[in-house]
Amino acid sequence: MTIPFVDVAIIGGGPGGLALAQGLKKNGIETAVFERDPVRSDYVQGFRMRIRQRGLDALKANLPPHLYQTFLDTLGLAPTENLILDERFNRLDDAGQADREPEDTHIEKSVSRITLRQILLSGLDGAFHTGKRFERYEPLADGTVIAHFSDGSAVHANLLIGADGAGSAIRRQLLPDLKSIDTGVRRLAGKITLDAAARHGISPLLTEFNTNIRPRDGRGLMITSHRVDPSACARHDLIGGEDPGHAGITGFHFNNSTSYTWWNTAYDTDELGPDEVLETRDGAALLETLLQRIGHWDERILKLIRHSDPSTVAFLKVRSSTPGAVWQSGPVTLLGDAIHAMTYFRALGGNTALYDAGLLVCELVAARRHSKPLLAAVNDYENVMRDHGYEAVRSSLSAMQRNVGANRPLKAIPAL
Ligand SMILES: Cc1cc2nc3c(=O)[nH]c(=O)nc-3n(C[C@H](O)[C@H](O)[C@H](O)COP(=O)(O)OP(=O)(O)OC[C@H]3O[C@@H](n4cnc5c(N)ncnc54)[C@H](O)[C@@H]3O)c2cc1C
Repeated sequence: MTIPFVDVAIIGGGPGGLALAQGLKKNGIETAVFERDPVRSDYVQGFRMRIRQRGLDALKANLPPHLYQTFLDTLGLAPTENLILDERFNRLDDAGQADREPEDTHIEKSVSRITLRQILLSGLDGAFHTGKRFERYEPLADGTVIAHFSDGSAVHANLLIGADGAGSAIRRQLLPDLKSIDTGVRRLAGKITLDAAARHGISPLLTEFNTNIRPRDGRGLMITSHRVDPSACARHDLIGGEDPGHAGITGFHFNNSTSYTWWNTAYDTDELGPDEVLETRDGAALLETLLQRIGHWDERILKLIRHSDPSTVAFLKVRSSTPGAVWQSGPVTLLGDAIHAMTYFRALGGNTALYDAGLLVCELVAARRHSKPLLAAVNDYENVMRDHGYEAVRSSLSAMQRNVGANRPLKAIPAL
């Protein structure tokens, strides 16, 4: 059997891998993406992602101008004003300033992950292959590499990119000793459409602001909204519309064209119940668990939780990578969560993956057009990627400790 050859093989069609493919295509570098799942229906895919300057810059550089314009036109909007309430619905001053973000936050820009994927997949026909679960790679004596898939097929490449997310199989082979850690933090989140919120008389203080519920004791609750303009989708070849791949999934979670308010909260291990129990609970039971825990809070907050769509509620263990690994550059490298997965506090993971993609495109353009040796280009990419990626991991972890541990210290705080 002849193994097909591609200059740059990318494993994983998440934001990082797809942005890289777009950037390489834009610069005339041959590439192909190999993705395990035909439809992306993991839980977080139903949420928006907050976009920062570094993510915007990378998308602008990597996308063709018409797709970047589509991205801007179909962006969702989050509220611009912040509000802090205690659990009795009293307004608090933002005296602590502990949550202040670095300047590159575009707090109002809220990207639907489904819309972003639609944009990043546009024009990649023929270069995007699904049903390709990467299993292992084989470095060859001539400096090239072969990637093997679970269906028995393989691809031969000059460079193999592991953009296969936090559980990366490429990282497991390249850096077998690198382990991810359980931070001990447990997250619950849920959504309600703005229409349903209005029907149930949910207070505008919970739908028009980025509202932080900061109780005097116990863990906080963050509430914000994602507003979409359905007419933008009609103007852009249905980008921003419902994804046919989600048609068979019941509930509102993967609905991509309806504005919603959403909340999330995080607890220490066992505070809401044992993991083994919480992991088996469906959305409705998890809502009940949370309502029991915060039952003494103001009814206006409880009403928001009670009326959230159970299909949008799930339990998540917050994990982080361990920053700091350095390795010798070769024909296999890593990008995004595959090397620097981080907690969701600070909203940096996806933006950092996009930023990595931008860095790697610049280096590969230097290698292909300006005779920079390929390994030098990969090494220069890895040095910068590691610096900013590991910094983001540490910063997201300390934000988690400040945020979740504000009233009550977390039991096990990982020191990275
Ligand atoms: C609750 C939560 C909220 C978050 N909020 C934000 C936010 O607001 N802003 C932000 O910037 N980031 C946020 N993040 C982080 C962000 O989701 C990730 O950092 C981002 O998705 C990483 O992109 P990626 O392309 O590196 O990896 P992924 O998005 O994980 O994509 C990896 C892809 O590889 C595929 N794959 C995996 N294994 C294989 C295999 N063996 N073979 C082939 N394909 C494979 C997967 O199917 C997937 O499509 C959040 C994360 C969580 C959990």
